[in-house]
Amino acid sequence: MSALPALKSLLGPKGFTQDPEIIAPWLTEWRDRYQGQTPVMISPANTDEVAAAVKICARAGLAIMPQGGNTGLVGGNTPQGEVLLSTRRMNAVRSISPADNIMIAEAGVTLQAAQDAASDAGRKFPLALASQGSCTIGGNLSTNAGGVHVIKYGTAKSLVTGIEAVLPNGQIFNGLSHLKKDNTGYDLSRLFLGAEGTLGIITAAALRLYAKPASLIRVMVALPGLEAAMQLLERAQGPALTMFEIIPRLGLSAVTQNHDGLSDPFTARHPWYGLLDFEYFSTGDHSAEIEALMGGALEAGLIRDAVIAQNEAQAANLLALRENMSAGQKFIGASIKHDVSVPVGKVPEFMTRADDAVKRLVPGCRPCGFGHLGDGNIHYNISSPSGADADDYLKNRDAMQKAVHDIVTDLGGSISAEHGIGILKKDDLAMRADPVKLELMRTLKTAIDPDRIMNPRVMI
Ligand SMILES: Cc1cc2nc3c(=O)[nH]c(=O)nc-3n(C[C@H](O)[C@H](O)[C@H](O)COP(=O)(O)OP(=O)(O)OC[C@H]3O[C@@H](n4cnc5c(N)ncnc54)[C@H](O)[C@@H]3O)c2cc1C
Repeated sequence: MSALPALKSLLGPKGFTQDPEIIAPWLTEWRDRYQGQTPVMISPANTDEVAAAVKICARAGLAIMPQGGNTGLVGGNTPQGEVLLSTRRMNAVRSISPADNIMIAEAGVTLQAAQDAASDAGRKFPLALASQGSCTIGGNLSTNAGGVHVIKYGTAKSLVTGIEAVLPNGQIFNGLSHLKKDNTGYDLSRLFLGAEGTLGIITAAALRLYAKPASLIRVMVALPGLEAAMQLLERAQGPALTMFEIIPRLGLSAVTQNHDGLSDPFTARHPWYGLLDFEYFSTGDHSAEIEALMGGALEAGLIRDAVIAQNEAQAANLLALRENMSAGQKFIGASIKHDVSVPVGKVPEFMTRADDAVKRLVPGCRPCGFGHLGDGNIHYNISSPSGADADDYLKNRDAMQKAVHDIVTDLGGSISAEHGIGILKKDDLAMRADPVKLELMRTLKTAIDPDRIMNPRVMI
């Protein structure tokens, strides 16, 4: 039997489709930068079906692209002829052990569902992204997703004790582990974290759970500038701080002017805003502590104003201002985007140098960098000059990206802080990465996937 009929017979109508209408939504990505094509989308129901399907593809030399929620932002989830393997039917939380603080979740569980399952068990799964309603655990681990709680809990890599994966030859690697300590050789599970589907298909993961906080205080501050933001970050550091995000004026205006129900919480306009979360594990009122922190910052001229959310609805509205930052920018013109990190203390220098560089390239362009100040990770987006033609403006993308990435490299930063390499940054990685690192990556790829059937166009 040739490969496609064999896959059809293995997976049945729920797990195999060639219907263009069903497949279409999974061929475009969120930013509309990539348009894909595939002869077939397969959706196995469990690990054994993934393994059998991979064996069929491997025998026929068919390349496979794994896909979870399709929220990836670097093109690694848009097929160009590969078999599209969706994990979305593998969406069971297999077990939760509050005693071990471990949840075993299948790859297709959405991040929101994983958070909810942890919460129902009296625990917290701290990964949090604006895409959490759609993105999946498999995608989160394969991209080593970051999000807004990295400052306290780390990236997705830190939240895993082991994974189960199907290898390119169809073997099942079982690295699921409840152990906090296990020094028995190479940490093979970690190879698959951030591998973007190039080494195999993650089918399940053992995720670390944490104590559920008794309360959360969310504050939005108006800032005179980024140096002040750095000093506020320094003062706010401590076990309670779980989020420190920054938003520029242009970004806040773009969101509040284009999203019903979201408004500027301040009466005056300010150059920058910060969004901070503090979580507490003991009961009682901790607001006096936060008020004292903000009062001191106000006196020192580090903030101009502050709003402390008084209830869950207000807290959600403040977070929505940050979460809609990318979406809001779509309304104010074309945008050239970067997802970069530099050492935290160098963020203000990065912003000044990058703003100068891009304005020299395109006078009138509007830098709108925002994001995870506490992690040194800025989504450095640059909106077109007001009224500029989008296509004309986007012709500057390569020059702008080179200028920005040159500064990042000079500051000892990374050209991909949390979205990965995919197709988008493949050439940049090849050009900028340490040759020894690239060689080691190629050696691993060849050892594990000698016939290059796993996401072969992605990353390396
Ligand atoms: C509005 C919005 C906000 C976002 N915010 C953030 C943010 O704050 N931080 C952040 O890090 N990212 C963010 N992202 C990017 C994206 O949500 C993450 O990269 C997410 O982890 C991708 O998960 P997914 O399930 O959608 O993966 P997909 O998009 O389906 O796939 C992403 C990559 O992982 C591979 N892959 C998927 N599943 C598997 C699997 N089971 N096994 C092996 N490989 C697999 C794919 O082949 C692809 O290379 C955001 C995206 C959007 C649209």
